[in-house]
Amino acid sequence: MTPEPFTLTTLGTAGGPMQNPDRAQPAFLLMNGTKPVLIDCGDGAMRQLKRAGIEFRDVAEIFLTHHHFDHIGGLFACIGINMMTMRREPLTIYGPAGTAQILDGLFAGCDVPNAIGFGVAGQVMPHPREFVKVREIQPGDVLTSGEMRVTVCENTHYRAEAEFGKEGPVSLSYRFDTPDRSVVLTGDTGECRALEELARGADLLISEIADLDLTMQRVRARNAHMSDAQIDKIREHLSSHHLSPEQVGDLATRAGVAHVVAVHFAPGVATPETTPSYAARISAMFEGRVEIASDLSTY
Ligand SMILES: [Zn+2]
Ligand SMILES: [Zn+2]
Repeated sequence: MTPEPFTLTTLGTAGGPMQNPDRAQPAFLLMNGTKPVLIDCGDGAMRQLKRAGIEFRDVAEIFLTHHHFDHIGGLFACIGINMMTMRREPLTIYGPAGTAQILDGLFAGCDVPNAIGFGVAGQVMPHPREFVKVREIQPGDVLTSGEMRVTVCENTHYRAEAEFGKEGPVSLSYRFDTPDRSVVLTGDTGECRALEELARGADLLISEIADLDLTMQRVRARNAHMSDAQIDKIREHLSSHHLSPEQVGDLATRAGVAHVVAVHFAPGVATPETTPSYAARISAMFEGRVEIASDLSTY
């Protein structure tokens, strides 16, 4: 069954580069009225769309938060399957600077299967270069799509706010204002004032979350060869470029949102045993509704 207009469905609630047997890689479905919009396109996103009741060819817009591989691994499959099924309608991919370079590489990767086609003489398959439009966006840009307004800000997943505006890769958070409600996706981020402003008064905040202690225990247990210096670097990345449950609750309270849904779980991090404690830790800082997402939940 197709999700209701202006709802958000979690297609993939995993996080990080490792495969997670219980969760698909990051991807979200937002129904812009009856039009499905994809936000991030992790490995397996096309299959998850199908499981959510959406045909991939009905997706005309994809928004990318950033270019870590867990968020973009499904792009090649996405453009390839559209090519194989003779798509000619435009598919627009929005994302931070670097998106065009990534798509150029994927287009080149389509040259061989495009030339092969189905092996039928005289048959011509559309090339993704013809139907994929890439639009790189900057923090502060405002876009409209049908009845929906899209606003973006840079977040602290790659660097501190003092570094914003300088040269270098950018990670984005998105706000989608529809006639019915406002939905904010943090993407991957650490604490961030710009994100707090972007999320001001939103009905729904889809927030990343990280369990620093549990993740570090696992990193240590599985990587006996790593030096203390390497381990410290990972800890530093996790603590400044991701959000603890308390920081998620604090963000929600400061921004005055109504409802928080936590996503982006490394393998083994959000189990039936640990999930209640994450919700409780968020709720210790936030009085609104809190949920820990599974794949294919609709909000
Ligand atoms: Zn991620
Ligand atoms: Zn990331």
